[in-house]
Amino acid sequence: MPPDRPGLEERRFRSLVQHASDIIMIVGAEGSIRYVSPSVQRVLGHQAQALEGRAFADLLHPEDQEWAVPFLAGPAQSCRQLPPVAWRLRRVDGSWLHGETVGSNLLDDPAVAGLVLATRDVSERKTLEERLAHHAFHDGLTGLANRQQFQERVQAALLDPRRRASGLAVLFLDLDDFKTVNDSLGHSAGDELLIHVAHRLKSCLRAHDLPARIGGDEFAVLLDGVGSQEEVEAVAVRIVSVLDEPHTVQGSEVLARASIGIAVPEVDEHDVDALLRNADTSMYTVKRAGKASYTFFERTMHERVMQQLQLDAELRHAVDRNEFVVRYQPIMQLESETIVGAEALLRWQHPTRGLLGPGEFIDRVEENGLIVPIGRWVLEQACRQLRHWDAGHERIGMSVNISARQLQSETFLTDVRRGADAAGIDPRRLTLEITETALMQDTDATMDLLGQLKLLGVRLALDDFGTGYSSLSYLRRFPVDVVKIDRVFVEDVGGGSEESALPDAIIALCQAFRIETVAEGIELRRQLDHLQAVGCHAGQGFYFSRPLDAEAFERLLSKRSWSSDLGNVPMKSTPRRGAGM
Ligand code: C2E
Ligand code: MG
Ligand code: MG
Repeated sequence: MPPDRPGLEERRFRSLVQHASDIIMIVGAEGSIRYVSPSVQRVLGHQAQALEGRAFADLLHPEDQEWAVPFLAGPAQSCRQLPPVAWRLRRVDGSWLHGETVGSNLLDDPAVAGLVLATRDVSERKTLEERLAHHAFHDGLTGLANRQQFQERVQAALLDPRRRASGLAVLFLDLDDFKTVNDSLGHSAGDELLIHVAHRLKSCLRAHDLPARIGGDEFAVLLDGVGSQEEVEAVAVRIVSVLDEPHTVQGSEVLARASIGIAVPEVDEHDVDALLRNADTSMYTVKRAGKASYTFFERTMHERVMQQLQLDAELRHAVDRNEFVVRYQPIMQLESETIVGAEALLRWQHPTRGLLGPGEFIDRVEENGLIVPIGRWVLEQACRQLRHWDAGHERIGMSVNISARQLQSETFLTDVRRGADAAGIDPRRLTLEITETALMQDTDATMDLLGQLKLLGVRLALDDFGTGYSSLSYLRRFPVDVVKIDRVFVEDVGGGSEESALPDAIIALCQAFRIETVAEGIELRRQLDHLQAVGCHAGQGFYFSRPLDAEAFERLLSKRSWSSDLGNVPMKSTPRRGAGM
């Protein structure tokens, strides 16, 4: 009996082909399907017989036909093993299967006479890859483009002369006070708010503009085909106005206003990073100027921001190197013209620029948060100084200026208690000077804190009264002991003009509320005379003394009542260094 090996081999081969999950196909040199395995029915839905004799190209996606047809007619026929290819094949329902095909050229094998193509369905993997790609280029929370995609798309736009000619602009948006929402309502509320913002942002844009979320509460937009600055501005105005409406998040009404910086590429500008930096810089400028608005980038902004960053760095060093010092300005009882207190005023002994007043740096340290440790140090320093002066002098009070940022810090109450305790002074001798603007923020929490401070015994002064919101309701609402009448009002008193009617009215009102008044910036005898006449309780100013270092102040204390030859000594030019923070 002749061995039936070939028959067995052939049966095995057939069975393998028929049961394979891949589609096995033989395509002739002219491109028609000569054979296709039955698996094609399961994978593509077509009957095998229906396909045989038809052009393989008919199964291919039109885009793939463009390269695959010449490939199969040419290169594929001149090699033995075909390189693996990926293409899309038409399912019977018209949808597309992503196939990956390996093949052999058996054209010169008379038993086959064709290209043998084995195609595997990789649709699932493809979908996963697409999902991963989407993930890599989109923000998971809002579905907007992410930073990576945004950068690439801006880069592509910058390199395309047609799009450049039609006008491009980049907007950077940063939500104002988003941290407050996150801190007070929780992260899930914060997330929800970001989704709301993304929706509103999209509602302001055209389909071909690209909105992106590029960081925590930072968004960006690429505007394409914006012919003029006015067009860009119109979009910014629209965004500002839709974000002006509060959102309802988990039952609470919250605001998510934004500061918007705009950068338009210059003619020769191709650097995507520089463009984004410019948008960021102008956004930062809006933030500093009061938020909830927009501005276009200008060259000078960059310099200014660099200066601020430089100042921030210097200030951090100043904290580490104890470069701060405190000056003390006497507060006089007006009737007796004797010293009843001191106001602690912060100075920075700058290594090269000399002694700097708070006007040069207080805004920065409030913004960057350094005011919290610095303010704590001032408080400790002032308490210790007060204790020191007690020896040999009549007891006076100490006033310390407090920023909004300090009131919001969790440790503030403890800081005050510790400052007084460590120095061994009665908290009732301490007056905290707070501006109306600081009280405006977060009223409930502030009210609570002020109540606690009152329990501790410290006195509260409303500083710069009349320059802020000047709401008389503050006098009722907050437990204020002292009102400090701002210098601008004191300037005109006693000059016989109408202007002094205002400070007079404030003083009268405070008397009715049993609130003490302290006039700031008394420089002239006539001002003092008038204030004494209307019953202002206390005052400070250059007429009595400039802010002094501790020793000079002590000399003044020894004298106790004011006399011009002692009090008006100008500030010493080489002040003592601060004693650690
Ligand atoms: P302020 O609390 O209203 O302090 C009074 C300011 O008026 C001081 O300016 C003082 O030097 C100045 N002054 C006093 N008498 C006269 C006068 O007769 N004429 C004129 N023209 N000015 C007078 P300074 O020291 O430059 O402080 C400015 C502001 O900086 C303070 O205003 C206060 O708001 C803030 N500040 C000062 N020290 C601190 C601090 O330790 N912490 C905080 N958070 N703020 C501080
Ligand atoms: Mg003050
Ligand atoms: Mg003041």
